[in-house]
This record gives sequence, C-alpha cells and structure tokens, in this order.
Amino acid sequence: MLVGASMMSLSEATIAPHHQSISAPATIDSVPDGLALQVEPLTEKQPLQRQAKQTETEDRRNEGHRWKPQVKPHIWKYIVLHHTATKVGSVASIHAAHRQRKDAEGNPWLGIGYHFVIGNGKGMPDGAIEPTFRWRKQLHGAHAGAKNFNSDGIGIVLVGNFENDKPTAAQLLAVKRLVAYLKAEFAISSEEIVGHGDVKATACPGRHFPLQDIVQVSSPGSNGASVSASDKNAAIQMGGKQQP
Ligand SMILES: [Zn+2]
Repeated sequence: MLVGASMMSLSEATIAPHHQSISAPATIDSVPDGLALQVEPLTEKQPLQRQAKQTETEDRRNEGHRWKPQVKPHIWKYIVLHHTATKVGSVASIHAAHRQRKDAEGNPWLGIGYHFVIGNGKGMPDGAIEPTFRWRKQLHGAHAGAKNFNSDGIGIVLVGNFENDKPTAAQLLAVKRLVAYLKAEFAISSEEIVGHGDVKATACPGRHFPLQDIVQVSSPGSNGASVSASDKNAAIQMGGKQQP
C-alpha cells in the first residue's frame, strides 16, 4: 500500500524531473567541486579468463562496501525506479540538467535528483552503477514528485528510454544487484519498491521496464536483511519516529 503519495510540500520534492529535458552528456567541467565523480572504468581485458572471474568476484564482494555511505545512513523506506527517457546519459549530464530546475519557491535544485545512476554504454559504461552526491551525503531525493518517496525513497535511474527500448542485459544485472543490496541493507520489502509511475502520473520507467523481476530480487544466502531489520527498528525507536 502506498501512503502519502498525494501529500505535496513547497520544496523541490514536489517537482518530478522532466526527464525529457535531459540532454547529451555535459562535460566533467560542469560538475561543481565536491561532486566527486566515481565513474567505473570500462572492464579491462584480462589475460586469463580465470583472472577476470576472480576480479569480478572480488568486485562483487567489495561492491556493498563501495556503496556504503560515509555518513550516518538515512532510514530509507522505499526504492523508486526511473528511466532517463533519453538514449544517452551520465551522472554529469543529469546533474547539469537538474541544476537548471527550480522548486516551487524558486530555489535551484541541489543537482542530480537521484541517488544512483546505471549506465547503458552511452555516456557511462554499460551496467556501471554510480552513486551520486545525494547518496554519499544521504540527502533526500528529488525524483518522485511525491513527498514521502522523495524524503525516504532511494531514487535509482537507468539511462535509456524504456518506452521504446529494453534495458541492456548489463543494466538489468546491475539494477538487480543494487536493489538486492539495498533491500538487505535497509530492510526494504518488495512492496516498498515501486516504479515512478506507481507514485505519480508518468510513463517512467517505461513499458519495457521489467519492474516485477527487479522488485522480487533478493540476496541469495544473505542474512543481512534480518540484522538490518533490527538495526532499522532500533534506529526508528531511538529517533522516536516509530509508526503506530
Ligand atoms: Zn522517473
């Protein structure tokens, strides 16, 4: 059950990104200091297949660590999935586009409204998962057009227009890995994972986006969910925000 989607505030949280206005990738120069770019390098050719496999396993193991925010984690309750509705895109290009936007009070957005961007090989490596400054600083999002989903929802965008095309195989693997990690880490249930169109009238993330496949992923063999669930409850109780 989705709650609070109709509640609006006068902050940037009420403005849904107009994905269509996102243009070609901006240069790195357009990104202000402090927005560290962590573009994953393209996979390098390994001399031995075995070595490549080991590296991949190593990468997977370190992945969660790489996504761990440096600051105290926010208590995230939802995951909201998006597409850029563009063929090309990157953290830098979306950041530049979102910097042009203003909230209802005329204040410019802080920058890219999402917490994670997953590349499609055009502007960013195919399947690369890049956390944005909003994730690193554990800031609210500006992506859902619905208050609760912006304040407590992790915004993930895949580059592409899934009204017309399918996500790439690498993007699907990447988003499943990321969602599985976030579900376990923040004890987010499948019911709390939504497409943008579930919380606002929009075609995003597109008719070819396999939302149900992604919603249902879980980390095989991971017992992190139960640990995180108790952490989450403890944090909620300590914060006095426990819901009745
Ligand atoms: Zn969207």
